[in-house]
Amino acid sequence: MTEAPLADQPDKDGAAPRLVLATHNKGKLRELRELLRGQVPGLDVDTQVVDAGAVGAPDVAETGVTFAENSLLKARAVAEATGLVAIADDSGLAVDVLGGAPGIFSARWSGRHGDDAANLQLLLAQLADVPDEYRGAAFVCAAALAVPGAEADGGREVVEYGQLEGVLLREPRGEGGFGYDPVLQPSGLDRSCAELSSEEKNAISHRGHAFRALLPAIVEALAGR
Ligand code: IMP
Repeated sequence: MTEAPLADQPDKDGAAPRLVLATHNKGKLRELRELLRGQVPGLDVDTQVVDAGAVGAPDVAETGVTFAENSLLKARAVAEATGLVAIADDSGLAVDVLGGAPGIFSARWSGRHGDDAANLQLLLAQLADVPDEYRGAAFVCAAALAVPGAEADGGREVVEYGQLEGVLLREPRGEGGFGYDPVLQPSGLDRSCAELSSEEKNAISHRGHAFRALLPAIVEALAGR
């Protein structure tokens, strides 16, 4: 018996996936589902919006030099591999006095990929002498959408952006979140991102802004699929 293409394979609850988010991060998937709930006619977000693992999508190397390039690389590769409309995001921290660094190197700023504590400590040490008024920084995100076949037939690819602006604290604060959350205090708040509930963070996050900006393209891409 030949295997059905990935896009035709029902998930465990029986509905065929229609939209794949190129990530293994369950928090990102949850965030996207909540944002899409009730927004796309006929889309059952809990069964038809899935992550990379659910459809065996490949891990894609982030070989681009901008957030936009990396998000597009991932969305394109996952759309082609699965035959599904795919979304991918790439994000990081951009510090004003560092000219936008760590930027695309945020996850490996200290040299070891994903060592959040070391990345954060290195950044704090680098900025130790920087006065408060120059400690501006932002989480930035590019979110890309790719439709299978888009490259070949000139079809649609879209990239949208989001930002969460704030200032860098001098010491980590809070237990929640991940990455640089304990040292970024959003503008207008007196708490770090790690002291916000996930609902509070999602409502203002760079990823939330970028995903929301992508919504019209998602609705259009899924129409008739
Ligand atoms: P990714 O693109 O989501 O994999 O994020 C890359 C890196 O950027 C992470 O490893 C974090 O160091 C940093 N980062 C991105 N988004 C956030 C956030 O919302 N909070 C804290 N750190 C973040």
